[in-house]
Amino acid sequence: MRASQLHLPTLREPPKDAETISHQYLVRAGYIRRVSAGIYSFLPLGVRSMEKVKRIVRDEMDKAGAQEVFLPAMVPAELWQESGRWQKYGPELLRVKDRKNADYCIGPTHEEVIVDLVRKDVRSYKQLPVNLYQIQTKFRDEIRPRAGLMRGREFIMKDAYSFDADQAGAHKSYKRMYEAYNAIFSRLGLRFRPVEADTGNIGGSMSHEFQVLADSGEDAIVACDRCDFAANVEKAPLQDLGFAAIDPAIGAARAVETPGAKSIEQVCKVLGCKPEAMIKAVLYMADDLPAVAFVRGDREANEVKVKQALGATAVYLAEAEWFAKATGLPPGYLGPLLPVGYDAKKVRFVADFEIKALASAVCGANEKQQHLVDVVPARDLANLSYADLRMAVQGDACPRCQPQGTLQSFKGIEVGHVFYLGQKYSKAMSATFLDEQGKEQVFEMGCYGIGITRILSAAIEQNHDARGIRWPVSIAPWECAVLGLGGEAPITETAANLYRDLQSAGVETVLDDRDERPGIKFADADLIGYPVQVIVGKRAGEGIVEVKLRHSGDKLELPVAGLAGRLGRAVAAARNGAPLTAADLG
Ligand code: ATP
Ligand code: MG
Repeated sequence: MRASQLHLPTLREPPKDAETISHQYLVRAGYIRRVSAGIYSFLPLGVRSMEKVKRIVRDEMDKAGAQEVFLPAMVPAELWQESGRWQKYGPELLRVKDRKNADYCIGPTHEEVIVDLVRKDVRSYKQLPVNLYQIQTKFRDEIRPRAGLMRGREFIMKDAYSFDADQAGAHKSYKRMYEAYNAIFSRLGLRFRPVEADTGNIGGSMSHEFQVLADSGEDAIVACDRCDFAANVEKAPLQDLGFAAIDPAIGAARAVETPGAKSIEQVCKVLGCKPEAMIKAVLYMADDLPAVAFVRGDREANEVKVKQALGATAVYLAEAEWFAKATGLPPGYLGPLLPVGYDAKKVRFVADFEIKALASAVCGANEKQQHLVDVVPARDLANLSYADLRMAVQGDACPRCQPQGTLQSFKGIEVGHVFYLGQKYSKAMSATFLDEQGKEQVFEMGCYGIGITRILSAAIEQNHDARGIRWPVSIAPWECAVLGLGGEAPITETAANLYRDLQSAGVETVLDDRDERPGIKFADADLIGYPVQVIVGKRAGEGIVEVKLRHSGDKLELPVAGLAGRLGRAVAAARNGAPLTAADLG
């Protein structure tokens, strides 16, 4: 393609609403244009990169035995009523009415539609297993669409759904998808980690998010520095390391005045103690009853774990006023030692395992303006109920290979999700088949999503510099740009010949034949992110050009003779997601 004919409107300035690098570059380099909040048009470059992502996803899905279908975006309400989600799904679900006043939604995900399809056509175990996928536009009316394609309202997803006769089969299907996802994200040239994720209301351990590692990511992950354990911080289980030994030198717990000191910081200031020696009370409403989770003063309580520990179905942070009224205890001065004679049925206490390991602690006294010091958990809090309640952090012991491994923190962008569903949807929608004995059975399901458009943002968050995008070869809109620095022979001739030869060698090439200054051509090429730039300048007459590799930054002077073949081989090798370096051009 000749740049002079390419619809390639690059901008000098980033759009005002773009805070993240990927959003800025996608707009500035002419990949996308905003139409409305979280809704974008794709320009030719954007389409090319997106199509490459789709091609890799399709290829690996097909290889894993999944088959492509295409489901409607408009979904009748009846299907969602059957699954129960018409009521449960919040305002993210865009509900619309047709001219006959019938209810529909624009599908944010397609479990209902696929279950309906499969229950009508699959009647026998002989037709199982089956795994169907589609690549399609989804709509979720996200409360805060942000960062361009990262969190759109309209976005493109690959969603697959597997149907098996039994659990063993479903686990096998899950494993195949897990492996296919590893292959997909490797081929996309991304640094990623599959991490164990929370399974929400479904339970079980079979859910993995595929996270692209990037500092700008929204998700907090911990991963072991020794073994392959990696999990969302909410999900990572932490262990009970037992009580600290009782130090006989520490006297009995006693109350001290701490007027006005309600927060951890204020108490530390008044008493000269450290947050890690404090017991923090986090107030909850658990199934409408007051409950308190005690964690170390420097830690964060994990609502998912608190809910589990309390065996509650719904847990919310409690309003201080409501809590005080319901328990008669003073928020801000709350501790695990209840006053003598207090009716313990009014409130539930649960403490994090880590509290046990404190030699001595400071906590609220359950009296206004007072705290307790010299609280020795092994001595004073032996009867408290303990559980794993907090978020994992950097430095925690790995729950899998402990005591050797240590957890490290990462930020991630969720680009894919594999989920074992069991019979959640098939049961609700009475989707059954006949087994070998002719008995009716409910399908075992899994669902598997990939954020096609989010991948473009994630790839840029991970691969950029101050000048622009540094695409992996596998998803760059074009693999190579030939920049002719001047309008006269031999520069123009060399550039045109190289352009022709590179195309013959199978390299997707753009010839920047625009009548622009070199500075502008360099800036655009770096911004757009062509993995290979061939710069035809002063030495063209001697048969020498410069080759610049955008990702590694390597620059080499190379003879024109044989260059197209060399680049053809190097680029072909990098299409599997491997980085392209100067060594590949040898
Ligand atoms: P998130 O926690 O980021 O909202 P999710 O858990 O709602 O994601 P899924 O329902 O598992 O996401 O959807 C599958 C994939 O679709 C996600 O892994 C993500 O890559 C992508 N995705 C989800 N929501 C959006 C969105 N609003 N914009 C772009 N991609 C999205
Ligand atoms: Mg979401």
